Amino acid sequence: MNSRPSKIVCVGRSYADHAKELGNAVPTSPVLFMKPPSALTTLEAGIDWNRDLGSCHYECELTLRIDQPLKNETDPAKALAAVGAVTLGLDLTLRDLQDDLKKKGQPWERSKAFYGACVLSDWVATAEVISDWNAVHYTLEVNDEVRQKGDTSYLIFDIASLLCDISQAFSLEPGDVVMTGTPAGVAALQSGDQLKMTLKGQSKDYVWTTFVK
Ligand code: ZN
Repeated sequence: MNSRPSKIVCVGRSYADHAKELGNAVPTSPVLFMKPPSALTTLEAGIDWNRDLGSCHYECELTLRIDQPLKNETDPAKALAAVGAVTLGLDLTLRDLQDDLKKKGQPWERSKAFYGACVLSDWVATAEVISDWNAVHYTLEVNDEVRQKGDTSYLIFDIASLLCDISQAFSLEPGDVVMTGTPAGVAALQSGDQLKMTLKGQSKDYVWTTFVK
């Protein structure tokens, strides 16, 4: 399935340690926002943004591709069965701008939906990676230093609950993408940074790299 998604749904503050590092309250229901398909870019293209808008933070996230329609789903097993493939993605965020928007009570899109704001790695069939949705592990290294460690057992809302909630809020179409939120360790990117994302699979690790222009 190579067609463009109709939308990319993102979960904010899904790990308590990340909510705390940005001074946000730990949510009692999932914080959802979206990126448009025009925000998508590739690993090969590298990361770029308008420097006049301030800092750009990386957020490395377990990312899901929905292959079956999900609408008003309440059955966790059916929600999980709709996930055809997984990968790691970067939810790039213009943090200075987002902080400003938050202060003004305005939507976040200016800081999260710009061209290139969603970097996706290659899709891997769900069965190759997932044996237990509550035990998915991944890391982000920047310039050979581990900056983020993802472990879905620490999600405030597990993946099935997130998918049911999203399907009730927006409905999901085949090809849609869900970014499940970032663990602690986010920071500003610098020109020339080398990023390495590693997703632990069932029989091997999947490793992807990209860079900041
Ligand atoms: Zn995020």
